[in-house]
This record gives sequence, C-alpha cells and structure tokens, in this order.
Amino acid sequence: MKIKEVVEVAHSFCHPYKITKGKEFKLKQIDPADTSGFPDGDKEKAKDVLAKGIKAITMLQDMLYAQDQYSVLMIFQAMDAAGKDGAIKHVMSGINPQGCEVASFKSPTSTDLDHDYLWRCNLKLPERGRIGIFNRSYYEEVLVVKVHPEFLASQKVPADLVDENIWENRYDEIRNYEKYLSRNGTVILKFFLHLSKKEQKKRFLERIENPDKNWKFSSNDAKERAYWDKYMDAYEEMIRNTATKHAPWYVVPADNKWYTRLVVAASLIDTLASLDLAYPKVDKRKLEELEESRKALENES
Ligand code: ATP
Ligand code: MG
Repeated sequence: MKIKEVVEVAHSFCHPYKITKGKEFKLKQIDPADTSGFPDGDKEKAKDVLAKGIKAITMLQDMLYAQDQYSVLMIFQAMDAAGKDGAIKHVMSGINPQGCEVASFKSPTSTDLDHDYLWRCNLKLPERGRIGIFNRSYYEEVLVVKVHPEFLASQKVPADLVDENIWENRYDEIRNYEKYLSRNGTVILKFFLHLSKKEQKKRFLERIENPDKNWKFSSNDAKERAYWDKYMDAYEEMIRNTATKHAPWYVVPADNKWYTRLVVAASLIDTLASLDLAYPKVDKRKLEELEESRKALENES
C-alpha cells in the first residue's frame, strides 16, 4: 500500500467537513445524509477504502509512538445514537492498545464538582506519543449545561461569577486551553457527528424493538430529544466560537454510519500525515552498540 495515495484520498474526504474558522458557520451547510464521494451509496467500495485507511492509521500511529513528541486528542460530541461508540470502535481497530486510551465523560461526580470543569478532562489527556479519545468532553459545559442552565446551580461556582457572560467566558476559556495544549504538542481534532432528527428516531425505535439493542436505550435519551432545536443552536454556537486552525471541528455527516467512519478515519490520517512523523534516527554510538550485540548473538554457542 502506498501511504501517499491513502493520504491524498483521505484529504479529499475530510476537507469539506473541516471547520477552522467558525464565525460564518451554519449547521445547515452540512447535510447529515451527505455521502459525497460515494453518491451511489457504494458501501462495499467504502469498506475497502476504510480498510486501507485503517492500515495507514496503524502505520502512522506506530511512528507517532516511536517519535514520542506529539500527542493526539480526538474529541467526540453528538446527540444520542449518532454513532460515537461505533466510530471509535471501527476507526481505532488497527491501533496498538498501548498507544491509545478512551475516556468517557458522563454527568460529573461530586469529586468532579469540587474542581473547575476542565479538571477531570485534564487528568485524562494523552501522554506524548499516544492518541487520547474523549467520548464527550468539556464541551458538555456549553451544550447540555447551556440547554439546562439549572445544572449550573449544582456546579458550586460562586454566584457572583455566574452572569450573562458565562457562555462567552466558557468559549474563551476553552479556546485558550486548546491553544495552550496545541502549543505544547497536543494535536486536537474535534468531531461533531451530525445526525438528523429523523434518523435519531429510527435508531431509537430500533433500540426499543431489537432485544439485543434494548440496553442501549435510556428513557432519558428520548427526553433530551425534546430539546433538539436548543441542542442544535448550542452546537452551532459552540462550533462558531471554538473552531480554530489548531483545534478544528469536523462536522461529520452521521445518518450513514459507514460514511461517518470513513470521514473520521480520513480526518485522523490527514492530521497524522501533516505532522511529518518519522522513526527516531539512532546515533553513531547506538549503531556501534547494535553491531556489538549482533556479534555477541552470532557468536553464541
Ligand atoms: P451512550 O452512547 O452509551 O448513550 P453517552 O455518551 O450518551 O453514551 P450516557 O451515559 O448515556 O453516555 O450519557 C452521559 C450523559 O452525561 C449525557 O447525557 C451528557 O450530556 C451528560 N453529561 C456529560 N457531561 C456533563 C456535564 N458536564 N454536566 C451535565 N451532564 C453531563
Ligand atoms: Mg446516552
């Protein structure tokens, strides 16, 4: 496999969904059912392309790990049933488990609430050479908390610090945090899996009707669905305020799972390939050491 070819294909797949400047962004610019590149919905061809992509990710991740300089942070945000878990599972399937860690962020615990909102995420940041995946993240602070501002009351932030600027302040804090991380070698990719309300209904009904999927359904998911428009406004505002060159948002069409996985894989390949990764070169002393070891092994009786 020629990695250069895979990288070129990957670039063409992720480019239309990569947002680096949010100001003008509108969610309606991207269709959740879009499958550009595969207009006939050729899933078999798509599977083949994804398999090649996964091999490329395996090779690039091996170099990332060996080089031990950059770390990669992949953030996933979405409405329920958009396919976060499936995308993570498939795209990362070729990765050495030692080089990758997934952290899921649910409702904050009492220990979490004894700290600022970035604290629990900070604890889970990837080490150099590793890929960290956040299944939800500090972005919940400008999503679910914005849609349900009553959650703010449980956060124990002093009342005089909570005013009408709270959301602008949080966008500002997140932008600065991500700038700081990227300046220290953390490469950030943020994915919003963009699902239509219609497709969510279909997936919820499947979860209710199929006994093997019952465990995936929670009545709370259906309750949150009632706030759909508020969530969409919050997502749009979040992207408008936090999409930057060093921490772009990828707005990934999510009505077709096979396409979502392809775009996520393509975005990771495109990013890793831009880092100019290479295996560390060994110096003269190390080469001599290798030669001595080779002789010793060959001379073993
Ligand atoms: P699944 O695919 O299994 O449903 P999930 O990520 O939706 O995965 P859940 O346990 O269903 O996991 O839900 C986690 C919930 O925690 C979400 O509704 C999310 O909005 C909520 N949550 C996450 N962070 C916060 C936060 N900081 N404040 C309040 N709620 C939060
Ligand atoms: Mg859920």
